[in-house]
Amino acid sequence: MGRIDTQVWQALLDDHDRGDELVVIVDSGFVLRAASERTQEAFAVPLSDVIDQSIVGLIHESDLERALGAFEQTTSHEGLRPPDVYRVKQGLDTYKPFDVSGETVMEGAAVVFRLSEITNRRRAEMLAIEQIEVLELQGSGRPRSECLTALANLCDRHVEGSVAIVHVPTPDGNLEQICASPIPDDIRARFVNQTLRDPGGNLSEAAERGLSFIEHGLTDLPHWAAVSSSLEHAEYRSCVTTPAHRPTGELAGFVEVLRRSDRRPDNAELSVHALVGRLIGLILDRMSFEEALSEAAFTDELTGLGNRRQLQEHMRGLSMRREPFGLLGIDIDQFAWINNNLGHAAGDQLLIEVSRRLRSALPPDAEAFRPGGDEFVIVVEHERRSEDLLAIAKNLLAVMREPMSLAKTERRVNASIGISKSVGGSDPERVLARADAAMYAAKREGGAGVRMFSEPIGQEMMRRMALADELRGAIANNELRLVYQPVIDLATMRVAGVEALVRWEHPSHGLLGPNEFVPVAEESTLILELDEWVLTRASAQLDRWTATRTPLNPLELWVNLSARSFIRPDLRRLLDKVATPSARGRIGLELTERDPIEDLEGAIRAFQRLRSDGVLIAIDDFGTGLASLQRVADFEPSNIKIDRSFVSRMSTSPKFQMVVESIIDIGRRFDLIVTAEGVEELGQLAVLQELGCHHAQGFLFARPMVVSDLERLFGSSIDGIWSPSVTNETADRLNV
Ligand code: C2E
Ligand code: CA
Ligand code: CA
Repeated sequence: MGRIDTQVWQALLDDHDRGDELVVIVDSGFVLRAASERTQEAFAVPLSDVIDQSIVGLIHESDLERALGAFEQTTSHEGLRPPDVYRVKQGLDTYKPFDVSGETVMEGAAVVFRLSEITNRRRAEMLAIEQIEVLELQGSGRPRSECLTALANLCDRHVEGSVAIVHVPTPDGNLEQICASPIPDDIRARFVNQTLRDPGGNLSEAAERGLSFIEHGLTDLPHWAAVSSSLEHAEYRSCVTTPAHRPTGELAGFVEVLRRSDRRPDNAELSVHALVGRLIGLILDRMSFEEALSEAAFTDELTGLGNRRQLQEHMRGLSMRREPFGLLGIDIDQFAWINNNLGHAAGDQLLIEVSRRLRSALPPDAEAFRPGGDEFVIVVEHERRSEDLLAIAKNLLAVMREPMSLAKTERRVNASIGISKSVGGSDPERVLARADAAMYAAKREGGAGVRMFSEPIGQEMMRRMALADELRGAIANNELRLVYQPVIDLATMRVAGVEALVRWEHPSHGLLGPNEFVPVAEESTLILELDEWVLTRASAQLDRWTATRTPLNPLELWVNLSARSFIRPDLRRLLDKVATPSARGRIGLELTERDPIEDLEGAIRAFQRLRSDGVLIAIDDFGTGLASLQRVADFEPSNIKIDRSFVSRMSTSPKFQMVVESIIDIGRRFDLIVTAEGVEELGQLAVLQELGCHHAQGFLFARPMVVSDLERLFGSSIDGIWSPSVTNETADRLNV
């Protein structure tokens, strides 16, 4: 194709322009070669400015791809294309939509375009088509944000010189802004923390009226001052806000249209706003069902935070992209206690409040999850120094510690936090296990603190895991032993009973006390096996004593059970299995007050059943828990055991003597047998007798000892009566 000169283009134009039309001639290289007189109205610049220029600069960016596609199709197939709407540049930076049809001429060397103003009817047709397109988008399963962006774009196209912002609620209740073009920060900032129920400013106004609402003279309104301060948006002079409703009538969100003009919106504009509002309602309504399904699978219902599954997904994603991240494992201290004593509603309230506080205090690149129970996990993206992660953790502790009102009382919530780091690509489960190990270390140190994962912590974790493994074998290999500590009746100074205490003869570590392995067992169901073993052994011993006629018969035999064993549903069956009916009334179960009970109601029911079977029950370490009196009222035990810490400090501190005195008093009022633990001195014995304490236990009388020593000590020789001359002459290696 040779050079075609200006006259040829002009002739072509004259052929097609009937004198009053908007016609342009474009060559196959997208260059505009000629334009009719009237197109000057469309372009609002002298024609010489557009002639010989590429049409690319004349078409709105968002319409360009579609326009060029259509153009190519037109040049390759001779014929007429149905009209389509494109926004054409008018003046320097405004665009006006035109209906454009094209016709190929000169064997594809040129296209004649006819532009026409869009009539209301034509506008309605286009709107109908685009509306279907948005719904098709949704129907094909595109994400909500994409569908709503398409809606905002539709609104922009049909309301000249405007920008639409769609406001819809997020799962956590705040309003989210969606716009077809990027929303400047100062506009977005106006909506921070606004909710559907309590939106601010113009949104509230629209919600209240249930109708579109216009604000004029934006630049002069105080709450727009920040927005208008940035030059670009000073151009927006009015704003039309329309509420969006679901088909059920429920408020779903808003569409806010910023306009360059200050005039009242015309009918066409208003109907576009109304249509967009209805489409938002429709889209959200249709999506909420599907989203509810997928959200339920990934969200913790109570707090709205991601659940364990979502946490795993999130970590897996980071790990696959080999992006480093930090993990904070958070566990609330004393949560079980709050849950059991202030009620589950208070527990829930605490979890909700904690999650709210965590979320508000997190850096922007961190996210909180609630994998279960009272555990929270924070994933901090990007490479962070340990100091930075520690600072984040400390800040979270401070935020949680702010007073919180729960069940009408003010409380401060403490937590233990463990931190670990992924260096990018590490196995997420391993990073999580390390954060957990660090968290347990913080907890063992008394809680309310932060620990960073370190090698020693890792070794401790391995040690505990190995110990748990070995303990499982120890039960089978018969490495566990029971020792018995006598309980003395202070009125007669005779042996009233014995308490069974467990020991582990470890093949390589030597003799281990319960404090070294019971807590490890309590981290799993291993504790159930351990307690069952103790109960079985102790019951067999009781039967043997019952069969012989020694001062050890008849006596009570006390066994320590962990809280988890107490609430096992088959405890009664287990007792039936291990203890003969005559022994049953002499078996006592001790429940320590140190450990919180996870299922209080279950425990109360268990106690009722045990009591009706004649099983004795003691509350151990009485006074160390947080709700001693509550326990007495709930569980109606037969005995309480004053914790050693009170007894041992009794002689040096009048305060502790008062504690002991009032526990004995509680016993008297509730008709309970009170046992003082850890009696080591004669002076303590005298005070306890003076105060009317029923029973006592301690090194003063006897250390825990193996059966043979116990029998020798309290057997025939002294007729079961203890006197200061009967000291612990026995020194078997298990007598500790
Ligand atoms: P506990 O039930 O309070 O048991 C009393 C503890 O105090 C025993 O420690 C005993 O040796 C020690 N003790 C007794 N008299 C004195 C004294 O005069 N002075 C001092 N300083 N200590 C005294 P042990 O045997 O190390 O047991 C520690 C804890 O382990 C027990 O506290 C109990 O809570 C738990 N435990 C022991 N055996 C078992 C068991 O078979 N199952 C479960 N679940 N826990 C057990
Ligand atoms: Ca005990
Ligand atoms: Ca105790």
